[in-house]
Amino acid sequence: MAMTRTLAIANQKGGVAKTTTTASVGAALADKDVSVLVVDLDPQGCLTFSLGHDPDQLTKSVHDVLIGAEDIADVLLDTDDNVTLLPATIDLAGAEALLLMRPGREYALKRALAEVAQDYDVVLIDCPPSLGVLTLNGLTAADEVVVPLQCETLAHRGVGQLLRTVTEVQQITNPDLKMLGAVATLFDARTTHSRDVLSDVSDRYELPVLSPPIPRTVRFAEASASGASVMRGRKNKGASAYRDLADNLWESWQGSDVRTYEPEL
Ligand code: ADP
Ligand code: MG
Repeated sequence: MAMTRTLAIANQKGGVAKTTTTASVGAALADKDVSVLVVDLDPQGCLTFSLGHDPDQLTKSVHDVLIGAEDIADVLLDTDDNVTLLPATIDLAGAEALLLMRPGREYALKRALAEVAQDYDVVLIDCPPSLGVLTLNGLTAADEVVVPLQCETLAHRGVGQLLRTVTEVQQITNPDLKMLGAVATLFDARTTHSRDVLSDVSDRYELPVLSPPIPRTVRFAEASASGASVMRGRKNKGASAYRDLADNLWESWQGSDVRTYEPEL
């Protein structure tokens, strides 16, 4: 593999399935023998927990890496999903303040990842639910960004703000950052509502919607409560949608156009 692809999964809104998307796409890529590093940038440590590591039991985390106290290679963990994890702990809540005092604070993650990137085909960055310095680190380190969008509410005002942040990152810290598009999550194809929300958002913000949408399924709630990935359990439509999405992304990294979803109204 010539080049590592780094994808940020970002939306300052919580509960839109950023973490679920990171874990599931990561596991699906690993099942295709792609070597994957996932980065937990959320002080809540939900990605860390969902990949089988209890954040409260960890002595080092991405926080120590960002402030320069640990080498990234010494903090990485293996997981049962065969992805490597750069874990988060609640310490990361303090990183915001610590990083603010430092020059080049937006580049801390990019610099750390450069030390291990050659070991991975793909790096996935699970951003926290804010547009603070941690998300700026994620967007600065990434080649591309996707925005998970929950299809259940019409309140997508935050999307404009996120897109402005992406534009600012492109102007200042990462001119090569590419907005790949939205990932439709918690999608219910039976209702016109989900489709309306999607077409409204994609028109208003000129944001392509990646194929396929991810259906709402109860298996995800069970999986995140148990600390085991949804990709490991019984076959279900959520897991197969994430496998298709992972294939779509992987093919785009091999040079194909990313496949998009056109909601039928
Ligand atoms: P975020 O990281 O954006 O805050 P999460 O990935 O933690 O969002 O997901 C929020 C909640 O929604 C979790 O409880 C998760 O299990 C649930 N969830 C995510 N995707 C689905 C889905 N496709 N169907 C049902 N529940 C889902
Ligand atoms: Mg999350």
